[in-house]
Amino acid sequence: MPKTFALIAHDDKKAAMAEFAAAHEDVLSRFELVATGTTGGRIMEACPKLKVKRLKSGPLGGDQQIGAMIAEGHIDALFFFVDPLSPHPHDVDVKALTRLALVYDIPMACNRATAERLIGTF
Ligand code: PGA
Repeated sequence: MPKTFALIAHDDKKAAMAEFAAAHEDVLSRFELVATGTTGGRIMEACPKLKVKRLKSGPLGGDQQIGAMIAEGHIDALFFFVDPLSPHPHDVDVKALTRLALVYDIPMACNRATAERLIGTF
């Protein structure tokens, strides 16, 4: 069964996520991909080859959906481009998600520099 990656980017980091996905489109195409709603849309626009399962938008519960998938053992890596300079209405969800990634010891890249290194390990 292919591994599943979860992809999320805060608004200010969506361009970087789309660029990252385009740069690694071939690698990513070998995995199941899930993303929060807007992030998933941006990735698919940038990467015609990729099929991304789009969940709810982050502020509407998408982060929590991905957290639940982690708890159920369905996520093998989390690529979460966090914007540390803007306030987010769903800050508690962001914290809950990163906490679950830690609890379940899921490889987690919270910025592009780490993502570039992590993607090379799959
Ligand atoms: P979005 O959610 O991809 O729907 O914008 C991301 C987030 O801000 O958690």
